[in-house]
Amino acid sequence: MNNPLLDTAGLPAFSRIRPQHVQPAVRAVLEECRAQVETILAAAQPPRWDNLVVPLEALDHRLARAWAPVGHLNAVQNTEALREAYNACLPLLSDYSSEMGQHEGLFRAFECVLAEEGDRLGAGQRKILADALRDFHLSGVALPPGPRERFRAIMLELSTLGAKFEENLLDATQAWRLVVQDEARLAGMPEDACERARQAAKARGLDGWALTLDFPCYHAVMCHATDRALRRELYVAWVTRASENGPTAGRFDNGPVMADILRLRHEAAEILGFANYAELSLATKMAASVGEVRGFLEDLARRSRVAAEAELEAVRQFAGQPLEAWDIAFWSERLREHAYEVSDEELRPYFPADRVMAGLFDTAAQLFGIRVVTGGAVDTWHPDVGFFRIEDADGALLGNLYTDLYAREQKRGGAWMDECVGRARLGSVNALPVAFLVCNFMPPVGDRPGLLSHDDVVTLFHEFGHCLHHLLTRVDWPSAAGINGVAWDAVELPSQFLENFAWHPEVIERLSGHFRSSEPLPRVMLDRLIASRNFQSAMQMLRQVEFALFDIRLHERGALDAAGVVAELDAVRREIAVVPYPDFNRFAHGFSHIFGGGYAAGYYSYKWAEVLSADAFSLFEECGVLDAAAGRRFRECILEVGGSVDAMEAFIAFRGRPPQPGALLRLAGISEDTASAA
Ligand SMILES: [Zn+2]
Repeated sequence: MNNPLLDTAGLPAFSRIRPQHVQPAVRAVLEECRAQVETILAAAQPPRWDNLVVPLEALDHRLARAWAPVGHLNAVQNTEALREAYNACLPLLSDYSSEMGQHEGLFRAFECVLAEEGDRLGAGQRKILADALRDFHLSGVALPPGPRERFRAIMLELSTLGAKFEENLLDATQAWRLVVQDEARLAGMPEDACERARQAAKARGLDGWALTLDFPCYHAVMCHATDRALRRELYVAWVTRASENGPTAGRFDNGPVMADILRLRHEAAEILGFANYAELSLATKMAASVGEVRGFLEDLARRSRVAAEAELEAVRQFAGQPLEAWDIAFWSERLREHAYEVSDEELRPYFPADRVMAGLFDTAAQLFGIRVVTGGAVDTWHPDVGFFRIEDADGALLGNLYTDLYAREQKRGGAWMDECVGRARLGSVNALPVAFLVCNFMPPVGDRPGLLSHDDVVTLFHEFGHCLHHLLTRVDWPSAAGINGVAWDAVELPSQFLENFAWHPEVIERLSGHFRSSEPLPRVMLDRLIASRNFQSAMQMLRQVEFALFDIRLHERGALDAAGVVAELDAVRREIAVVPYPDFNRFAHGFSHIFGGGYAAGYYSYKWAEVLSADAFSLFEECGVLDAAAGRRFRECILEVGGSVDAMEAFIAFRGRPPQPGALLRLAGISEDTASAA
């Protein structure tokens, strides 16, 4: 056995993994899993937790262990050969997952365990069984053969349509560019954005500056270019991408794709017995009903409205002129600079990466009673990678953490946490959790260490919150350990919760210090930074609510053509938005979260989890922000239980009552008094 992906005795041997190992390993493990499933089923007579669920959990653990390093390397060390190998495995894995989801024998065996043994099992075990049975149903296992086949065909078609939606959007984004010859038109833009535009032109053999719809370029123009006509031109191109409007009208139109997606989603929901796709989506989430989600969003909108109108009026006053859609970001930036006199570039020298990491670990240690210490030399994929031991107060090892903080070529953008190894105690298989924490911060230059912006610090806290959820779990069964089995709309609770600490003066003081002099962040800068936290927070709130409400209402409506989609969005905007939207705006045609990604009838999750995290944090506002007893309670009630306890029950266990939206509004600086005056 020379394939390092098949050796799961210790940590992955990253440096030995080659693209040619990927397909053979995945095929071998899947083949083994298929055979094992049948062997386990045949031997489980009668089916019980120990003879059915435990060995199946071990199989899933084995598959996850073989695949985790592949997915990780594909994201952080992407090469043509690895990407090819990775993509070739996706249909294999998806086939296996639908086959298991519609496996009637397995389904009946799970039913039998719950019926025969349910009373004797613990609550966590019963939840695992109930979740598994729910997922069998949602895969169509209980349908008669005709509808079952139709359901599978719809799922396959939907995955293709989702990919088509993304392709159209990408192609439309890349098809447009504006070449500017007169440097004066770029007035106001940051130097590095101009430099990138110049290189973009040069790469195409052109003189001047090529402005594109890549987000950093678009964003720089909208926030900084003083040329109003230039901003308008980019705005029009951006908001009409992949639609029947604008400069690439009709060439990459997502209108028909959206119509097909909505029709098929609705049909799939009806086959499973739901009234609409929104109901199907909520079947796996914490929110109980579509009405509850709508009520939640409408309430946030109502309470934020007065503050949002005041924020917009402040921009208008500052600009001294009526504002069109392409003016708002520009004048907001000017107002922010004027009001807070704080810039990322001034703050950076006070946040060297090592110091921030030490402060973060220190904060977590104080809150949760753990220790994070260097893990020694291990095999990694890059010299930048850090490796740590997470220990309990008594020194017992709880898990390990890999960190990979800096941007480089062949690494996917953004920041994320991922699972390397899940916790498992299954008799034959024993494993402690291992997590990846990946960011794309500005790398060290020469003898200067990596310096973080405060935004980066918040990101780091967010991702480390996910890591703690994964690492501090006490659940022995992989399907409910850590973030597994946690409802989609609750999974951001630990991460958004931890973000709050990155805004606390005591924590910021502990994390910061000039990289040369170690001099603390001057109080005046600290105050300005904290004051700027809630700039335009009510407008941001309404924007998120607008997207979320549109998403849930759309999926409640069922089949709609493109014109119907646009009409629904316009209706939501008339109710919710305070900013102006021109008629040609086609936001829906580029809303890949819900048409290409996994957020369909689930976009509200961002706000939902934010209510939980803000309300959880409010306990620390009451007891003292670094209160160890409250921290220990968060660890026990939320972080340790993972998916073994229903998300609402877990929250109530922690807070002693159901979540209240007031804390979110208060944290966002949106005063309840102003709202009720409306
Ligand atoms: Zn997150």
